[in-house]
Amino acid sequence: MRIRTMAAVLGVAALILSGCGQEGGPGENGNGTEDPAATDKCESSDATFEVDSGVTVEGSKTFDKISKAGKVVVGVKADQPFLGYKDTEGNRCGFDIELAQLISAKLGVDPSKIEYKEIPSENRETALQGGEVDYYVGTYSITDERKQKVSFAGPYFIGGQDLLVRKDDDSMKGPEDLKGKKVCSATGSTSIQRIRDEGYSDDTVEFKTYSDCVSQLLDQKVDAVTTDDAILMGYASQAPDSLKVLGNTFSEERYGVGLPKGDKAMCEKVSDILKTAMDDGTWQKIYDGTLGLSGTTSEAPKLDDC
Ligand code: GLU
Repeated sequence: MRIRTMAAVLGVAALILSGCGQEGGPGENGNGTEDPAATDKCESSDATFEVDSGVTVEGSKTFDKISKAGKVVVGVKADQPFLGYKDTEGNRCGFDIELAQLISAKLGVDPSKIEYKEIPSENRETALQGGEVDYYVGTYSITDERKQKVSFAGPYFIGGQDLLVRKDDDSMKGPEDLKGKKVCSATGSTSIQRIRDEGYSDDTVEFKTYSDCVSQLLDQKVDAVTTDDAILMGYASQAPDSLKVLGNTFSEERYGVGLPKGDKAMCEKVSDILKTAMDDGTWQKIYDGTLGLSGTTSEAPKLDDC
């Protein structure tokens, strides 16, 4: 297994903190010399995904579109370490990315033929509704409201909303301490919605991505970033001297693979793919080689019916 060295992980933090190597470029330490630690190189698990070339999914419009095109278009995130990440060389890695690759292979499409589309939280439903993506894998919580517009196969992971703060700030222990604090999260997320609905803070700031919020936190422009613990642990593990996750979750976030609404055959197929991966150790292998490296611990959850 190729495990990121701590130096490499810290190097990613250096890149995040410096805006991905704007000063001196990636891999340089500012003096123009190569810094071996300064890399955000994507590392993947050892899992391999055999392409199921004879597969058919009776009655699925999404599958028909995929097989006709000979490729899949997958909606993902690109700035969430260990989940959905794209390094400076353009490689993608993370738990969500590898699950997207597994699903592609089991739908008969070699993962090298995946066309990735980076879709932020706020645009997921419209991307699926408009046929812009065939499926979406990117920390996408299954909710009743979203189920009005899209379908989900899952949950393939369960996390909870938490808070990321500066390491030297001991003024917050949980969401009750957010009164009077400036809180940042992503537009269209369950995270920002919950902060508002529950009245935890009325001083909220939104951006398209969580990495924008993390920059704001490091620049002292906000006091906390809130979203799922799995996402926050990734940022914290890359900047352990500057950031910490409170570890006091206040929601249940059940991640699903987003699918075009009503394609039950596709939902059943993707659920089957996930179930097999959970039973044969593939899910665990992917988890251990990606998200597990951020310090999160989780077991494969039980899947919902379609
Ligand atoms: N899981 C939450 C959601 O789907 C927050 C993370 C995200 O925005 O992707 O809204």
